[in-house]
Amino acid sequence: MSQLGTATRPLRVAIVGSGPSGFYAAEALFKSKQQVKVDMFDRLPTPYGLVRGGVAPDHQKIKNVIRVYEKIAKSEHFAFWGNVNIGRDITVDELKQHYDAILFTCGAETDRRLDVPGEDLPGSYTATEFVGWYNGHPDYRDRNFDLSGKVAVIIGQGNVAMDVSRILAKTRKELEDTDIADYALDALARSNIEKIYVIGRRGPVQTKFTPPEIKEIGELEDCDPVVRPEDLALNDASRVELDAPESNHERKNFEIMREFSTRPAPTKRKRYYLEFLLSPVELRGDGHLQQVVFVKNRLAGEPFNQWAEATEEKITLDCDIFFRSVGYRGISIPGVPFDQRKGIFPNREGRIIDGDSPVPGMYAAGWIKRGPSGIIGTNKPDSQATVEVILSDIETLTPCAVPDSDPLRQLLRERKVRVVTFADWQRIDAAEVERGKSKGKPREKFAFVEEMLALLD
Ligand code: NAP
Repeated sequence: MSQLGTATRPLRVAIVGSGPSGFYAAEALFKSKQQVKVDMFDRLPTPYGLVRGGVAPDHQKIKNVIRVYEKIAKSEHFAFWGNVNIGRDITVDELKQHYDAILFTCGAETDRRLDVPGEDLPGSYTATEFVGWYNGHPDYRDRNFDLSGKVAVIIGQGNVAMDVSRILAKTRKELEDTDIADYALDALARSNIEKIYVIGRRGPVQTKFTPPEIKEIGELEDCDPVVRPEDLALNDASRVELDAPESNHERKNFEIMREFSTRPAPTKRKRYYLEFLLSPVELRGDGHLQQVVFVKNRLAGEPFNQWAEATEEKITLDCDIFFRSVGYRGISIPGVPFDQRKGIFPNREGRIIDGDSPVPGMYAAGWIKRGPSGIIGTNKPDSQATVEVILSDIETLTPCAVPDSDPLRQLLRERKVRVVTFADWQRIDAAEVERGKSKGKPREKFAFVEEMLALLD
């Protein structure tokens, strides 16, 4: 048996998911001393995961990281297999026939729930679907968001809540030169939303957003931020948190919010309210959301470990559209162990485990490994760490039965799955950029898979 990782028998790795963690893993594999062949699968015909479908359209600079991924994709040892759904078009067992290791970098595709009555009333949505919709993600292209009312409530104070609320707050002018989907731009330009509430269950020191994101809220063309000075009064534990040397972000956030609280009375058409220490306990409405009932919280616990403790006091807010933005969860794939509680693939240092035992040849990196945390760059060391683990296992990996991708390609052809190669994607990419030109946008995305495939064939 030839040794894995050599020129005669390169290590064959299937990477499932073409977002940042997938590309950083491919990069780390190529930089290793071993000979490696990477086939990267994505259920969409388009690569780049959240960089394409998650990063806000008005944050174009963040998307420049794609240039790094394009370089990695140029490797002669790399192939992109777009439009292939692992678990549906081919099973994990079938994949195992052709790869010595499978590395899952499929992210956290769905949202966490609040589990309160009325959560599924019309008018109540998830940040996931709204973000996907304005970003032209095929899964969410068909969603309709009723923006005819005046009051929007967003639950959660992380960067996704910042994105959702900022997009609701911006004018057409502020969005029209971005790569926002044209249907979303039109719908948002017609929106009647005037009051945007971004609501946290804990206090202003425990917000999860980062300073540049909250700063932007104070610079909007037709929306004023509103923070009541009394809401910035801190308990002793929060004061300790704020004064701690490691709390740079928190101090900057707090300073920005303090500046908001000293501004004169708002005059712009839209108002952006930051509210704290409130948890939704019920969504009410007769056939459509009309009100949200909140319980007031107080903070309990030690500094850096404070949680929201409900009081007896409740308040009710009239609300026309509601978004929960309280974090993401991964989705299971048949044939791979899944931790239902955490929404990740259970793993030890990236080795997927079933109970206590590692599943031979199966690995995870990115959000499906550690949960939905960190910025794009956080995935680089995370993926490198999993790759180190794969390489340290190389001696013990069972070589796959058929070290060749062609039979797999043939199998997919028989199953009428149109594999989208990297060269195909580049044609889609060029066509999108071309479509955007006349509108002054970096690109106009194709939001239907059928449109993309029609362009290719
Ligand atoms: P996140 O940063 O974890 O924020 C989640 C928010 O939801 C927190 O405020 C959390 O409050 C709250 N929450 C959770 N469960 C709740 C519940 N049951 N009731 C009420 N509130 C609840 O998650 P995210 O905003 O989804 O972002 C995910 C990751 O992507 C983050 O690391 C984020 O920084 C990153 N991201 C970055 C950018 C950017 O760099 N521009 C943009 C988007 C996303 P507690 O703190 O009390 O749990």
